Amino acid sequence: MQQVDNSFSKRCTLLAPKLIKALESRKFQAYYCVNAKEAAEKALSLIPSGSTVSWGGSITLKEIGLIDLVYQKGYTVFDRDQAKNIDERFDLMRKALLSDVYLTSINSISEDGILINIDSVGNRTAAITFGPKSVIAIVGMNKVCKTADDAEVRARNYTAPLNAVRLLLEKTPCTSNGSCADCKTDECICSTIVKTRMCKIAGRIKVILVGEYLGY
Ligand code: SF4
Repeated sequence: MQQVDNSFSKRCTLLAPKLIKALESRKFQAYYCVNAKEAAEKALSLIPSGSTVSWGGSITLKEIGLIDLVYQKGYTVFDRDQAKNIDERFDLMRKALLSDVYLTSINSISEDGILINIDSVGNRTAAITFGPKSVIAIVGMNKVCKTADDAEVRARNYTAPLNAVRLLLEKTPCTSNGSCADCKTDECICSTIVKTRMCKIAGRIKVILVGEYLGY
């Protein structure tokens, strides 16, 4: 997590109300939290007791400590990282699609409330699109871009290469030179690019904006 400077905080304060309005116009539920602690508490308050819970790969979820809190609260979880082998891992990813609550971040978001996500296998983008009854997305305000096109450019050219490096995907061009080469390698993590411009089932996707640098 990066340190929050005054300029960033001020921009968040100015931009958050506009972004919340834009998200609500698209039928998302939207919230603004000033910091990670508040965001984790907000997310927990949106998970009914007795829910089954799962999540997609996300630096943000780890940074705000939400996965640990979900375990501490005793929810039934579908955690693919508990799998003993690849078949079990895929079974858990499929079960996640029918969980009550799915936790995720968003790769980039536009000022007018459009969500952009890039995925490798597609389990995360599938869950955001349809399946879990409720999706809770925690998004650092560092991921806000002016337009949906800008958000896609950011996700493809900044977020995805960083994720490839983090995941040690050495056969991808971005891991060897730091820049996306629009690859089709076996290790490519950019198989699916999803733009969510509206929450068709009103309120199903909850977006918690956070006034801190979270994820990338
Ligand atoms: S398309 Fe390939 S090169 Fe570009 S970011 Fe994705 S994995 Fe890296």
